Amino acid sequence: MSTHEAETDDVRAIKSGADHLRAVQDGRAVYLDGQRVQDVTTHPAYRNAVASAAGLYDYQAQPDNVETMTFDPGTGRRVNRCWQLPRSYEELKERRHALVAWAEQTCGFMGRSPDHVASVLAGQVMGIEVFQAYDQKRARALQDYFEYARSNDLFLTYVINNVQGDRSKAFGDQGEGSEDLIAKIVDEDAAGITIRGAKLFATSAIMANEIFVGSGQPLKPGEENLAFSCALPMNAPGLRVLSRKSFEAHAVSEFDNPLSSRFDENDALIFFDDVKVPWERVFVYRNTDMCRAQFHDTPGHIYQNYQAQIRLSVKLRFLAGLARGVADTIGTINFPPVRETLGRLASQAAMITSMVYGMEAAGRMRGPYYLPDRHLLYAAQVQAQELYPQIIHTIRELAGGALLMLPSSVQDFADPELARIIQRTQISPAMSGMDRVKLLKLAWDAVGSEFASRHVQYEMFYAGAQFVTRGHSFRTYDWAAAGSMAQALMHRYPSPAPIDHIDRSTTASL
Ligand SMILES: Cc1cc2nc3c(=O)[nH]c(=O)nc-3n(C[C@H](O)[C@H](O)[C@H](O)COP(=O)(O)OP(=O)(O)OC[C@H]3O[C@@H](n4cnc5c(N)ncnc54)[C@H](O)[C@@H]3O)c2cc1C
Repeated sequence: MSTHEAETDDVRAIKSGADHLRAVQDGRAVYLDGQRVQDVTTHPAYRNAVASAAGLYDYQAQPDNVETMTFDPGTGRRVNRCWQLPRSYEELKERRHALVAWAEQTCGFMGRSPDHVASVLAGQVMGIEVFQAYDQKRARALQDYFEYARSNDLFLTYVINNVQGDRSKAFGDQGEGSEDLIAKIVDEDAAGITIRGAKLFATSAIMANEIFVGSGQPLKPGEENLAFSCALPMNAPGLRVLSRKSFEAHAVSEFDNPLSSRFDENDALIFFDDVKVPWERVFVYRNTDMCRAQFHDTPGHIYQNYQAQIRLSVKLRFLAGLARGVADTIGTINFPPVRETLGRLASQAAMITSMVYGMEAAGRMRGPYYLPDRHLLYAAQVQAQELYPQIIHTIRELAGGALLMLPSSVQDFADPELARIIQRTQISPAMSGMDRVKLLKLAWDAVGSEFASRHVQYEMFYAGAQFVTRGHSFRTYDWAAAGSMAQALMHRYPSPAPIDHIDRSTTASL
């Protein structure tokens, strides 16, 4: 076989969009508006988002992208670099280039693209000794599952959070009628465990191959029934996906809602209706501390959130470009205050990129693997939660009423008389009236539509509320090094004599 033929075979073996579309036509139980969805690849509420996800696989399979996007983990089949376990700073950057290229395909709007949960598993496997110290069998199950998911280049999503319920109570103590609120182990036998109850938010569940189920929120002793993690195919018997409202279904047209119509990855509540999980897919079993350790004692949490910051850096770059486009379109770009505002926005976008570079450069080896710096990662996360709503607000401020005073839909252009009026009223120093409308509709979909509003909530909460991320930042900062400077300085100058040594006879009369 010639070298060329070998390469062609290699390229063919890479997972393609068509492979992904076929795989998700698996009879999964997705519910929307009171109906069971028959096929997510054709349903008007999901088909474009599913096609966008499939497009990621087509992108990686293009001959020019194969080297950047994929690697051979030693199985002879190239898979996405999100499965790579970096052994140096150079390999970490190589992996990042693939993640950036994927995020660019969706302008950063698909937060649970396949590289997110793959990064969690990669991080957990980099710390497999943590699992082994708790339970050898569960560690073996995780290692085997990782290899299975990686060699099939699976798209995984996860549910590691609980239904909000009553926050003033523990998850395991929500009171009468809450039996099915939070997924728990209700039975077990020689084949595996049975789980019943809910978990959320399963972002991308409608289009993923499989789902990782676990507990990222702290559990206390006594809540062992809730303390498990496992993986299931999306069509597992009894697994129900209760989709939220579809923004794709409500998109007026591609022209009117260019983002909602193609990147609505969807969020869902997963209800496990006595779902059977075989032991070889159970990674944590009735151990509250191991639930925490699987994310925080392994590099799982670091790799999962490092991916999220890479994706966000791309999204902010997209939004910065959009902001500049708005100012160009309405002719305010040369006003000094507008340039200042854009300068501030550009620096905010660049800050997240810089923090990604910083966490990589300040990384360290853990055994054979190279990890981004944990504190710089959490610092970026805390900043990002505040930054995102600010950036959205800034773009709205830059645009004024332009974002709303637009033709009701693309259909207005079909009427020559209306089209003529639109052409005369939607003027711009930078582009045609049509292009002005096109750009401003894109901007509204990014900052003002229901889809945009969900994204603000997503960026504020996907990693937990602010008290959670600030807690990680507090916990991982090097307070000793920071405090030692103040201590060292204080040692360089004398303190006044202690109060006990002051001659009290001189102060007695005061
Ligand atoms: C769009 C979206 C997509 C998501 N996708 C996923 C996903 O795919 N998989 C997944 O597992 N998770 C996902 N999440 C995250 C997750 O499900 C939760 O939203 C997140 O962990 C926050 O929990 P909560 O919503 O229950 O809010 P809470 O934790 O209840 O927080 C709500 C507010 O209550 C206050 N509060 C609550 N408890 C405390 C406390 N102890 N101390 C101080 N203040 C408190 C805070 O002010 C906070 O802002 C997603 C979230 C969103 C919004």
